[in-house]
Amino acid sequence: MKEDSCIFCKIANGEIPSATIYEDEQFRVILDLGPASKGHALILPKEHFADVCALPETWAAKVLPLGAKIGAAMKQALGCSGFNLVQNNGASAGQTVFHFHMHVIPRYDDGAKIVTWTPKNPSQEELAQIAETIKSAL
Ligand code: AMP
Ligand code: ZN
Repeated sequence: MKEDSCIFCKIANGEIPSATIYEDEQFRVILDLGPASKGHALILPKEHFADVCALPETWAAKVLPLGAKIGAAMKQALGCSGFNLVQNNGASAGQTVFHFHMHVIPRYDDGAKIVTWTPKNPSQEELAQIAETIKSAL
């Protein structure tokens, strides 16, 4: 299913042009218009799924291998030494386009911080309590 108002549906299905680096029956991989680093790409399913929770397992199973394939190609072609696979779910997590996508972000040996956070220091009791809370919802 596609959604008429969704820009990533249009890009994934070729209705809006994009810098495409890979395409198959189910996915298109494009360069991000606002890249975090040179070569930053987005894996887009051609059907509309709002986020990872809506993505069927048969589709999800293909995303990680595709991310690895694209990342390996970036290392060879762009000379990056690593890459991040990043996937945001929900506005509070930084998701701005509500059509599932996986970022593939090449990382170079320039020390630039791209995916980072400040570690907190919870007690063992807090960790155990949080673990129980999450487990109860699984
Ligand atoms: P997220 O914040 O995870 O939802 O990521 C959305 C990403 O899509 C951002 O990195 C944007 O730069 C990128 N983006 C938004 N519109 C376009 C577009 N038309 N073509 C390519 N990338 C886009
Ligand atoms: Zn869509």
